[in-house]
Amino acid sequence: MNVYDSDRMKDSLEPLGYQESSDLQNADMIVINTCHIREKASEKVFSELGRLRKVKQRAQQEQNRQVKIVVAGCVAQAEGEEITKRAPWVDIVVGPQTYHRLPDLVAKLDPFQRNRLIDIDFPPEIKFDFLPEKLGKRGPAAFLSIQEGCDKFCSFCVVPYTRGAEFSRSVQKIMDEAKSLISSGTKEITLLGQNVNAWHGVGPGGKDWGLGRLIFALAELPELERIRYTTSHPLDMDDELINAHAEVNKLMPYLHLPIQSGSDKILHAMNRRHTVLEYLNIIDRLRSARSDIAMSSDFIVGFPGETDKDFANTLNLIDKVGYASAYSFKYSVRPGTPAASKSLQVPEDVKSDRLLSLQQLLDAQQFAFNKKCETKKFDVLVEQKGERKGQLSARTPYMQSAYFDGPESLIGKMTQIKISFARKNSLSAEIFNQKEVI
Ligand code: SAH
Ligand code: SF4
Repeated sequence: MNVYDSDRMKDSLEPLGYQESSDLQNADMIVINTCHIREKASEKVFSELGRLRKVKQRAQQEQNRQVKIVVAGCVAQAEGEEITKRAPWVDIVVGPQTYHRLPDLVAKLDPFQRNRLIDIDFPPEIKFDFLPEKLGKRGPAAFLSIQEGCDKFCSFCVVPYTRGAEFSRSVQKIMDEAKSLISSGTKEITLLGQNVNAWHGVGPGGKDWGLGRLIFALAELPELERIRYTTSHPLDMDDELINAHAEVNKLMPYLHLPIQSGSDKILHAMNRRHTVLEYLNIIDRLRSARSDIAMSSDFIVGFPGETDKDFANTLNLIDKVGYASAYSFKYSVRPGTPAASKSLQVPEDVKSDRLLSLQQLLDAQQFAFNKKCETKKFDVLVEQKGERKGQLSARTPYMQSAYFDGPESLIGKMTQIKISFARKNSLSAEIFNQKEVI
């Protein structure tokens, strides 16, 4: 979602004459878009700001040039004034729900940048209504935010506080943005939301729509080849969405459905509001709808009160499901969340040991899944050049990166490949010659 937000900030700054640049030393404005989900992510912001201070000083001293430094995103939202206190060289602090005001904030900076501007409201207006309709260039695979915020309040998580209450964009706005992406060459859209499957809207004729219905509607756009959505919550996997997996070919057979822990006791303490069995039932239903679906999840180890037995249950669950990939994290204490004040915090070394064994298991599953893909043929979307000359890079339906030789004219197009060799994190392939099958 931060990638999507960064692109939208870029869109909103373009009318002011700004263009994206990879040349940090000569940039006129530097925007850091930040993440607050774990402590490590927010610590990174302050070390990065230390580096930017030097860039700003150098521009001032050597070229008499004023560089504007902006901190956006959830660290901005959560730490607001603290940022300008600890890093007074920051000019603007803007939250995830107010970045549509960035052009106004830039205009309000005095020419010598003696003022500091902080805008971390949860405003009454909806940012999407104030962002430019015209989208800048996106790649063959693009993101589209359809839902934001969260009302679920898992006890470890800052999202409800930093992104605010759950909000769904309208069907019309989503369809318009999808069409705009497609008209500029996008072939794959990933629908985004903190709880993307909590999305709901009103379709033509006043009918209530859930995510499943929206996916059916998007699939009718002829030049759109692939649809994905992330991140889903098990509680919001309704029948229509599961049915979309059975009936919509453009919906990729790969789903990120986080469970966090394989222990009912821990799930309850996390306020996830479902059991392990309920989660496994959802996966069964998904697999009945689409037999080739592959699963991915997030896991947290070392949540307060997690015992060896709870952790063993998580490993059991992973064994049972068999994931194609997954993200896993040590529990990170987030100030202001209910779990932060729980006694029975798990010692750091125990968390590290558990993370290591969890990741060994997940890595082995990912490698096994990739190995199973050897000799298989996939339709892929070619996204960019590979590292080697003459090489292309594409994503399989399962989000694996595949590399193969082919002409650059294929970038942005669908092609068929055959997997020749699997590694842990990528696949080698060749373009499949149709004549071979005849
Ligand atoms: N809405 C999604 C997840 C959004 S946050 C869901 O409910 O599944 C992305 C991931 O960050 C979470 O799935 C979780 O695994 C991880 N995460 C969130 N807060 C965390 C914390 N305090 N410590 C460690 N990991 C955390
Ligand atoms: Fe955070 Fe996801 Fe829970 Fe919402 S549902 S509080 S975003 S982990």
